[in-house]
Amino acid sequence: MHSLWEKQSFLSADVTIIGAGITGLSAAATFKELDPSLSVIVLEKGVLPTGASTKNAGFACFGSVSELLNDVETLGENGMISLVEKRWDGLQKTCQRLGRSVIDLQVKNGYELIFDRSSNALQQIEYVNSLLSPLFQGSVFRNANEKLEAFGFGTTTDLIENTFEGQLDTGKLISSLWNYCNQLGIKVHTGCHVTDIKEEETCVRVASDDVVFKSEKVAICTNAFTKKLLKKEELDIVPGRGIVMSIIPKQPLKFEGTFHYHDGYYYFRDYYDKLLYGGGRNLALEEEQTDSFGINESVKKKLIEDLETIILPDQEYEIEMTWSGIMAFGSNKSPIVKKLSNRIAMGVRLGGMGVAIGSLVGEEVAELLTAD
Ligand SMILES: Cc1cc2nc3c(=O)[nH]c(=O)nc-3n(C[C@H](O)[C@H](O)[C@H](O)COP(=O)(O)OP(=O)(O)OC[C@H]3O[C@@H](n4cnc5c(N)ncnc54)[C@H](O)[C@@H]3O)c2cc1C
Repeated sequence: MHSLWEKQSFLSADVTIIGAGITGLSAAATFKELDPSLSVIVLEKGVLPTGASTKNAGFACFGSVSELLNDVETLGENGMISLVEKRWDGLQKTCQRLGRSVIDLQVKNGYELIFDRSSNALQQIEYVNSLLSPLFQGSVFRNANEKLEAFGFGTTTDLIENTFEGQLDTGKLISSLWNYCNQLGIKVHTGCHVTDIKEEETCVRVASDDVVFKSEKVAICTNAFTKKLLKKEELDIVPGRGIVMSIIPKQPLKFEGTFHYHDGYYYFRDYYDKLLYGGGRNLALEEEQTDSFGINESVKKKLIEDLETIILPDQEYEIEMTWSGIMAFGSNKSPIVKKLSNRIAMGVRLGGMGVAIGSLVGEEVAELLTAD
């Protein structure tokens, strides 16, 4: 039984956000920025955010040539351009809100490794540039083969460079966004696993164990866990587990920047004197369609093979840590931002580039719910 004080000061708010990843925290911040008088709470099931936002590799990216060509196939040219624009705007929004140095954003360029001279991506660089040039006021991608020898990669035939791509510190991003929310007066309740959402005539009740939070509006920002929460099998959301390794090379790295290969399924970057390396989900797509954390040893084995033949050939290294995170995918790469009723909306299915688009999706959900 709760007290009057608990009910008044902790269990009711104008707005409840479910999920404290980049999307949920950004949605919470937007509500307060739009109307500082609103009371806003965020409910998070983990002690820390426990999905993708604190588990990723910190690429501030909007897609390699291969990935963007795939997006043209599934979304059409305009759909691809609009997705890139949203990712780019999302990054700018994060930087404006938190500051580039606070999140350790460094633009050291991004690269796609190519292993076959006849690859479609190589042939289509200028086509993708022509689609993106109105947005970036110039070419985004170029062939950068002159850097290949110095980088020392094995088996790589070509390198495509993206001069707009950067990298950031994921931990600093989420903790500074959390601090920013606290400064705005938003309360983040951790260890609060929401199991039920019930809309009534005058409010929405959100239940976590035996605690019920009452609010006017609810934003669902639970990404890969949304289907479970809403118990809606028809939702086009499939969880996808990804792994990242932190690697300590014995000699200084020969390269810096962010790197992708095989349609973005594999990625690595420098992180000061370390290498962050992950991916390989395509090797076991069905097995990795899970929302349970864990390491698939066969995927890790293949990553290590590539590490020794492509990324650090003939070099010694130590694997410091390996962790997993859960992403959300669907039939295309556009996030789902929609109202379920006048009081409830969701911003979910952020895919593999949510660091970029997360702020914008959070903003869109908040705007949807404040529109009427
Ligand atoms: C291994 C890996 C590498 C990645 N690398 C990159 C990258 O380099 N660049 C990039 O742009 N993107 C990357 N991503 C994708 C990016 O991290 C995600 O798209 C983004 O973080 C999604 O943010 P989100 O807030 O929507 O979801 P999440 O971060 O998953 O947040 C959802 C939150 O909701 C909480 N939650 C779920 N259910 C409930 C419930 N019932 N009650 C209460 N709380 C609940 C979860 O605990 C979680 O904290 C990567 C992802 C992974 C896993």
